[in-house]
Amino acid sequence: MKLESEKWFTEFYPDDGCALSLELSEKLHEEQTPWQKLEIYQTTGFGRLMLLDGCIMLTSRDNFIYHEMMTHPVISMHPEPKNVLIIGGGDCGCLREVLKHTEIKAVHQVDLDERVTWASEKYFPELSESNNDPRASLSFTDGVAYIEQAKSGCYDIIIVDSVDPVGQAARLYSEEFYRACSAALSDNGILVAQSESPLFHHELIKSMKARMTEVGLNDPATLFFPQCTYPSGWWSASMAFKAGRPSNHRPVDIETKYYNNAIHQAAQAMPQFMLDADK
Ligand code: SAM
Repeated sequence: MKLESEKWFTEFYPDDGCALSLELSEKLHEEQTPWQKLEIYQTTGFGRLMLLDGCIMLTSRDNFIYHEMMTHPVISMHPEPKNVLIIGGGDCGCLREVLKHTEIKAVHQVDLDERVTWASEKYFPELSESNNDPRASLSFTDGVAYIEQAKSGCYDIIIVDSVDPVGQAARLYSEEFYRACSAALSDNGILVAQSESPLFHHELIKSMKARMTEVGLNDPATLFFPQCTYPSGWWSASMAFKAGRPSNHRPVDIETKYYNNAIHQAAQAMPQFMLDADK
């Protein structure tokens, strides 16, 4: 089939010789923020699309999988989660999911770029519907600088919802950053960070878990889930525990579209090629 290129957005993955295209019906917004190029489109099949520096951040249709898997598994594994920090996450999808848990007393979100949150509030209002919850607070600054000054032991869960490890986000994957996160975690604290595609970025996942261990966190593990508009269509989040990985989790009683108790277990199963490569 011949594609009319002006009607399609294509994100190329040159290292892996492939690409993903979405059909567009309208450009809704474009700006260069102080940090990145921000674009919003209406697509024909995936609702609205947000790009940062030409990379897909989210679509209306499939973002629920990512946002639920970045939040509910770790919250359900913590014995008594009260204070949560989100670093990145400017679209507010993770924030909305965290706030579904009534036992959470406070969620602070730190994103570099206020314009991402502005665009999300305007074009993805469903993701920002809980932004006025009195338990939520937002600040706009560098997440690395923020965590380096955080009070020791003050967060039960830290969620790193960042872009790929390039530019301003590269330091969010560093050992120094994980060391500061570890210091800011409470005794049973859990760190979880988006860790890219298991198929394309296995080495990155391996190195993230090694760095988490290096800074004193325990039992690093990866959650696997589909994400059809991210490179390879298959994504991951990697986590590590201040006091060791709990043997069970609390079944959650909230409304979800992807996450449930069976998914919680299944998402932690390591594919054989990764087990073999990690030997
Ligand atoms: N789910 C998306 C993905 O995996 O591609 C990430 C979405 S979220 C919009 C990523 C956010 O990280 C962006 O809003 C960006 O501004 C933010 N970000 C990048 N570097 C950052 C930093 N150093 N500190 C805080 N936020 C940062």
